[in-house]
Amino acid sequence: MKRILVTGGAGFIGSHLCERLLNEGNEVICLDNYFTGSKMNVVHLMDNPYFELVRHDVTHTYMAEVDEIYNLACPASPVHYQYNPIKTIKTSVMGAINMLGLAKRVRAKILQASTSEVYGDPHVHPQPESYWGNVNPIGIRSCYDEGKRCAETLFMDYHLQNNVKIKIIRIFNTYGPRMNPDDGRVVSNFIVQALKGQDITIFGDGQQTRSFQYVDDLVEGMCRMMGSREDFVGPVNIGNPNEFTMLELAQNVLELTGSKSKLIYQTLPQDDPKQRQPNIDLAYQELNGWQPKVQLREGLMKTIEYFDRQLKG
Ligand code: NAD
Ligand code: UDP
Repeated sequence: MKRILVTGGAGFIGSHLCERLLNEGNEVICLDNYFTGSKMNVVHLMDNPYFELVRHDVTHTYMAEVDEIYNLACPASPVHYQYNPIKTIKTSVMGAINMLGLAKRVRAKILQASTSEVYGDPHVHPQPESYWGNVNPIGIRSCYDEGKRCAETLFMDYHLQNNVKIKIIRIFNTYGPRMNPDDGRVVSNFIVQALKGQDITIFGDGQQTRSFQYVDDLVEGMCRMMGSREDFVGPVNIGNPNEFTMLELAQNVLELTGSKSKLIYQTLPQDDPKQRQPNIDLAYQELNGWQPKVQLREGLMKTIEYFDRQLKG
């Protein structure tokens, strides 16, 4: 039995990961400050004696004897990470330093949840891991993008300088049950708006693209990456290459919910990337043929069912 620390474990992705790791017979310590996550996301795990929930902020040091660390603590939606940008960058940078320090001390393997945002508004499409990106260092997304880029640097330096066993994954837009309904990300926004019969808010002309991954595929990729051969540290893209415009996404949500909501157009936020699509050849090669299994409409149906229950309940 391994003891595994999941920072940001009470968040959307973290809660699915904790569940999976417990199901595989591990002991899990879930650490969270509940900024965007919630105890409700993990309440169903509380009865498990191998699950431990700790209120803690990763900008402060934390000590526990663990075998593996998944470092997910960081607000992920633009609305939330822009709420307190200084705190966001502290969470990424000081959180990485604190968790890498812990990994070094107890000789744990540590995985960083990095992001496709390190590619910024990309000039190379689709994005391979070798692309260095096009990121504005002083814009409204920078606290998140540059924080995550700096965290990748720290991971690589602890690995090269101190032999810490690291893994870096770059996650592309991921959605599914337990997303925070108010967190402003496009999939949760469109579904909640459609279910409530409110206008669907398209930012800009809706022609910008994203490639949406269902959360189960991501969790599978994360676990495979943690278990991959020791000299493969990444970064590796984990995402679904099927690319959609925001108008296509809205159309799918309207069809699947049967909603009569109308589309309204709002200003495109500053530095909003125009396109995003992962090249997943490396993940396929190194992670035992990993590739996403759940396509958009199937994943949207499961997410719509979840939000429908939440709104009624
Ligand atoms: P989320 O907001 O649901 O989860 C983040 C969790 O971290 C929350 O539970 C929050 O309370 C916690 N947290 C934030 N600051 C903290 C701090 N200082 N100390 C302790 N806990 C803190 O978002 P998510 O979508 O589940 O994202 C999880 C991770 O995956 C994040 O690191 C995010 O950057 C990364 N990621 C997500 C996506 C995506 O599309 N969902 C894409 C790329 C990267
Ligand atoms: N978006 C939108 N309407 C919304 C929320 C977001 O059109 O109500 C757009 C947003 O401008 C961006 C895309 O959807 O182009 C994805 O936004 P999200 O915040 O989900 O993720 P990110 O921009 O970080 O990829």
